[in-house]
Amino acid sequence: MTINLLSDTVTKPTKGMLEAMFNAEVGDDVFGADPTVIALQEKAAQLFGKEAALFFPSGTQANQVAIKLHTQPGEQLICDKWAHVYNYEGGGASFNSGVSCRLIDGDKGMFTAQQVLENISNKEDIHQAITSLVTVENSTNKGGGACWDLQELTRIKEVCKTHELAFHLDGARLFNALIATSQTPKEHGELFDTISICLSKGLGCPIGSLLIGSTADIKRALRIRKLFGGGMRQVGYVAAAGIYALDHHVKRLHEDHKRAKEIASVLETYSFIKKVEPVTTNIIIFYVADHIDESEFVNKLAKRDILIVGMGQGKLRIVTHIDFTDQMLEKLLKELKELY
Ligand SMILES: *Cc1c(COP(=O)(O)O)cnc(C)c1O
Repeated sequence: MTINLLSDTVTKPTKGMLEAMFNAEVGDDVFGADPTVIALQEKAAQLFGKEAALFFPSGTQANQVAIKLHTQPGEQLICDKWAHVYNYEGGGASFNSGVSCRLIDGDKGMFTAQQVLENISNKEDIHQAITSLVTVENSTNKGGGACWDLQELTRIKEVCKTHELAFHLDGARLFNALIATSQTPKEHGELFDTISICLSKGLGCPIGSLLIGSTADIKRALRIRKLFGGGMRQVGYVAAAGIYALDHHVKRLHEDHKRAKEIASVLETYSFIKKVEPVTTNIIIFYVADHIDESEFVNKLAKRDILIVGMGQGKLRIVTHIDFTDQMLEKLLKELKELY
């Protein structure tokens, strides 16, 4: 039994999810004729109190389409220095949309409305790139699954309104954040012009993301998705997994968070661990003690069939998910105890 804690993307569909996929009614979605895709899109839009949604093969593509939607070439978006859209989307903002990223030196991937204000360019100065978009990430990936304060997001929304900036949420793990903070999808729906969510992370789907927004934005997003090569055909088989996940895999996320917290609290007790970052959701970031070699630590666990990520400079990451059971947790804690 391999315990794979590399990411929450490593999960396999449950039996119930596979059944839903097997029984899906499908059609050619490029013709807008896949009833299951339409149902998923309507469900997601409704959940967030928005008008429309669009199904995507990946979260990266959903974010990239959102950036294209809200910007013109030569303009600038504002994001945190740790943002996925800047660090992990292959330079897509510049490649796909011709925009630069103005990076905020935030805390755990999050920043303040004041910092946004300080980073908006002067429209009257012809030397400066025009700021047109602010993107935030909730929960933050590189920030160890940290979650935003709704009031700070509301203040940023006000800044965006005043300065006529679009506001996009990269919500790859938004449901983890919502469960951890007892916030609602509609509260986020009210704040953002567009929201991307991943079905393929904590929600346990094999594939799939959604972009959620106004009817007008989603209509334009459909054209851009086609341009980016993201139109798919009988993809209702995959959308069915998404509907199933929204119905069955959201409320259970607190179990992943509970297991993550338990791992963190045990790690903290070992002398071979230097520091464990606070755990809010399903991501645990920790550092091995100076005398411990990071890759040796990863390899020792791998030899015991436990896979975790070494992030360099003694930093390591564990991500809990739907396929990580209490039995696996027990084994992990036992192996950690005997590791050094
Ligand atoms: C995973 C992730 C994405 C999108 O990833 P895909 O692998 O393209 O689906 C976007 N933003 C964040 C913060 C992520 O963690």
